[in-house]
Amino acid sequence: MQPPDLMPEGELNPSDTELRALVHTLPALVCRGRADGGGVDFVNKGFIDYTGLAGAAALGWGWMDAVHPVDRRRVTVCAKSILTSGTSQTTEMRLRRFDGTYRWFLFEGSPLHDASGTVVGWNAIKVDVDDRKRADEALRESVQELRLIIDSIPGQVAILNTSGRAETVNRGLLEYFGRPFEDFQFGDTSDHVHPDDLAGVIAAWVQAMSTGTMVEYEHRLRRFDGVYRWFYARGLPLRDSANQILRWYVLLTDIDDRKRAEELLRASEQQFRAIMDSIPGLIALVNATSGEIELVNRGVLDYFGRSREQLQQWTTSDSVHPDDLPQVIAAWQRAITAGEAPEWEHRLRRSDGVYRWFQLRGFPWRDSNNQLVRWYCLITDVHDRKTAEDALRRSETFLLEVQKLSRTGGWRFDVATDVVESSPEIQRAYKVQPGDEISNPEFWFGRIHADDRLRVRSTFERCVREKCGYRSGYRVVLGDGSIGYQHAIGRPVLNEGGELVEFIGASMDMTDHWLATTELERASQALHDMQTKLSRAAQVATVGELAASIAHEVNQPLAAVVTNGHACLRWLSAAPPNIDKAMEAAQRIVNDGKGAGEVVHRVRSLFKRAPVEEVPLDINDIIREVLRLLEADAARRGVALAVSLESDLAPVRGDRVQLQQLVLNLVLNALDALESVADRAKQVSIRSRRAGAHAAIDVEDNGVGLDNPETVFEPFFTTKANGMGMGLAICRSIAAAHNGMLSAVRNPAYGTTFSFTVPLAADDRL
Ligand code: ADP
Repeated sequence: MQPPDLMPEGELNPSDTELRALVHTLPALVCRGRADGGGVDFVNKGFIDYTGLAGAAALGWGWMDAVHPVDRRRVTVCAKSILTSGTSQTTEMRLRRFDGTYRWFLFEGSPLHDASGTVVGWNAIKVDVDDRKRADEALRESVQELRLIIDSIPGQVAILNTSGRAETVNRGLLEYFGRPFEDFQFGDTSDHVHPDDLAGVIAAWVQAMSTGTMVEYEHRLRRFDGVYRWFYARGLPLRDSANQILRWYVLLTDIDDRKRAEELLRASEQQFRAIMDSIPGLIALVNATSGEIELVNRGVLDYFGRSREQLQQWTTSDSVHPDDLPQVIAAWQRAITAGEAPEWEHRLRRSDGVYRWFQLRGFPWRDSNNQLVRWYCLITDVHDRKTAEDALRRSETFLLEVQKLSRTGGWRFDVATDVVESSPEIQRAYKVQPGDEISNPEFWFGRIHADDRLRVRSTFERCVREKCGYRSGYRVVLGDGSIGYQHAIGRPVLNEGGELVEFIGASMDMTDHWLATTELERASQALHDMQTKLSRAAQVATVGELAASIAHEVNQPLAAVVTNGHACLRWLSAAPPNIDKAMEAAQRIVNDGKGAGEVVHRVRSLFKRAPVEEVPLDINDIIREVLRLLEADAARRGVALAVSLESDLAPVRGDRVQLQQLVLNLVLNALDALESVADRAKQVSIRSRRAGAHAAIDVEDNGVGLDNPETVFEPFFTTKANGMGMGLAICRSIAAAHNGMLSAVRNPAYGTTFSFTVPLAADDRL
């Protein structure tokens, strides 16, 4: 295409058409400016093609339309200054392409001179520098970016030349040292390094430079404020195409915190070790999966006298007591398979072979994933506690057993809190039920029989008041309505100030004893009743035997009365009546009548169930009375009665009827014992005598004698066909009731002597 000729032929005198074609085909935009400042009067084809401005539109200042509005003023000023200065001017501008996009152009304008050197205009060439410009910008941007990156690296960066001088350092480094870049560029920076680390740093660099390999080391660098911090340095060489090292890129990373943490860790590990070793117990760290003993403290090594390796074999050695081993192995299995925290007591073998009790407790240590890693086991010597516990348990069991056996429970009453503590045995005795308020004293008082309660309560309250020992026996009404009997004692416990703190006491369950005593009382009462009845029976039995003698006794005075009556009648009927003789006879009648009356009176009083009296009595009288009753009987049996009574025997104190019965029984027995005797003269001797403060009465016979002098006193012991065996038993109880004694001895030759004593009335003891 033929380019439009925009230049007036006459004003421009191109040398030739080729030149004109060249201007049009230049890969640049060309224009020619007017000397009068009226813009351009020529633009080349390149300009028109690029801007898409129609030829005329570009002329004058029309081309300014394609210049970026921001750049317009500058370009205008530049163009005008060509004319004013007469020198070349350049600027950059953005020129809009026909499609609307702006590209960067270098505007280079030069003045046009005529032959006389007068400026006649100017021309300008605009070269598309957009790509370069953009590349420049990109480069600048990337350099900036790089700088930014380097500066924002959380570390210190330095680029060193091969002689160790800094070519570049980042901001971090400058800030750390607080020194200008020049110091690094030209100065000696060795004083930045901690003196202790300097030799190591130099050696590392010498090594790296000689081998050309990466350099790395740790060292302390002094901060602007004089504080040293640890840094990790890593330097990499940059080589050219000939493999020559151009420079070193060095990155310093602040590892001070890590370093300190490491040191702390190391220190804390040491501390941990020291703590572990100084703990007065045994510590073992056991792997939670393998069960391996990973660590033990000194205590463990000292105790066992074995190494950790040896202890590893604990399942097959005697380190754990054989009796405990199976349970311990099983428990460890559970800890390892199920993660069950180890806790048990077992005996461990000390280096001298002695087993002691230890408590083992395992504390889990988990990693960040909550995985169980190991067990920290604290093994505490509990031997003394354990043996003390055993002893305590034994003694408690013993005490409980004793309490149970003795049916004695313990109690404690706290005066300040009004609270009662009670032992299981006491609770059992009181038949305590769950829910009973046994700490309340009222519960215990409430259990006491209503008839006893007031007495017990007032006794107890008095003891609290007077701080004196407490003792009380009472009935308790148990939950089931049954009655028990408790005997309680208590001791006051005083504080230093003499104030009552508490009562400590015991209560014995006497129910059985009480029942037995009650039973015994009843039995003894029954026995007593029986005795009385039997003694009556014995007396009545004796009546039969005595009937004859009584009849005989009464008969004699009666016969005498009759005889004297006849005599009296005879003397009165005589003429003259012999009054004196009659009166004598009548007097004898009266005497005999009295005698008979006395016999009857004595018999009656013997059988009278008179209450026991204690009156002063003449024991000789009693003997005589009995003998008078028995004389006839004795005579009938052919027995001689020898009586020897101490004449001035002091009176005894007692019951006449009972003592008569006693003598009567002994003499009758003596007569009975002579029944079968045929080979000697039958004799019964009755003596009374004084024996100290007593009167002693012996009834001696030469009868058949006794086999056992004691057996005869047993109730119901009899050798007689019609005997009851109660006579002597009653006699003994009579003697005892009189504070006397009844005993029997075998005579050297024949027969027996029964003796009893009765205290003399003068004796105060009666
Ligand atoms: P009873 O005569 O009714 O059997 P006792 O208590 O009076 O009961 O005596 C018990 C027994 O003691 C008699 O059966 C007799 O065997 C024996 N006895 C008692 N007194 C004598 C005695 N003086 N000599 C030998 N035996 C006697």
